[in-house]
Amino acid sequence: MAVDPLIELRDVNKHFGQLHVLKDIDLTVGRGEVVVVIGPSGSGKSTLCRAVNGLEDVESGTILIDGRPLPPEGRELARLRADVGMVFQSFNLFAHRTVLSNVALGPVKVRGRAKADAERRARELLDRVGLADQADKYPAQLSGGQQQRVAIARALAMDPKVMLFDEPTSALDPEMINEVLEVMQGLAAEGMTMIVVTHEMGFARSAANRVVFMADGRIVEDRSPDDFFTRPESDRAKDFLSKIL
Ligand code: ADP
Ligand code: MG
Repeated sequence: MAVDPLIELRDVNKHFGQLHVLKDIDLTVGRGEVVVVIGPSGSGKSTLCRAVNGLEDVESGTILIDGRPLPPEGRELARLRADVGMVFQSFNLFAHRTVLSNVALGPVKVRGRAKADAERRARELLDRVGLADQADKYPAQLSGGQQQRVAIARALAMDPKVMLFDEPTSALDPEMINEVLEVMQGLAAEGMTMIVVTHEMGFARSAANRVVFMADGRIVEDRSPDDFFTRPESDRAKDFLSKIL
């Protein structure tokens, strides 16, 4: 179990109207840990990610990032949110900006970095995701897999303490999935703390320290990948695995 918690959720609850989407969520992610979150559609995985990033407020419970509670709003929230990199299913790149500008913009606007420094660092990050030669293109000129790697570089440019990935390969053509997973594997191997919502079981088996299985807004299982995939305990998990494996 986590000895040095970076993310802690304690008894977190969230409704959308009558719908109870996060139910008594307790989750600790240690520094350097990779936690894969899986579960049926509508089980609350995206809401969980959005809550950790301060994009959704929660009604009860506490969310701590590196020991500090996520404040409801304001400058303090913006500062803590900058510690949490987020990559979505849809890449959400700025269409009218070059790849380089997409990656360099946040550090200039939010971290107050000098433009030349931010661009130098952006080129390093693009190199790291295998896109050094694409810096001057526009997002529409890239494949989906390349755009998602730009989105990862853009999130990394903020020097986040943790990276959240919400189904990062779900919108990709099959032949582009691996190039994105490989970048994520690399990050995991370098010790990045990650919460990854994905149904890519190969990634979960090879990169995850833990698998968290959600159903109906609850964490139903929280175990090692090997335990989870070979010996799921709950009927919900058994049923889910029988459908996807
Ligand atoms: P998952 O990512 O596991 O598919 P979500 O976290 O997106 O699940 O959604 C959990 C539940 O909350 C679903 O029933 C979904 O329809 C509902 N939901 C999500 N976002 C909203 C919203 N902004 N307003 C109302 N209901 C929402
Ligand atoms: Mg989702």
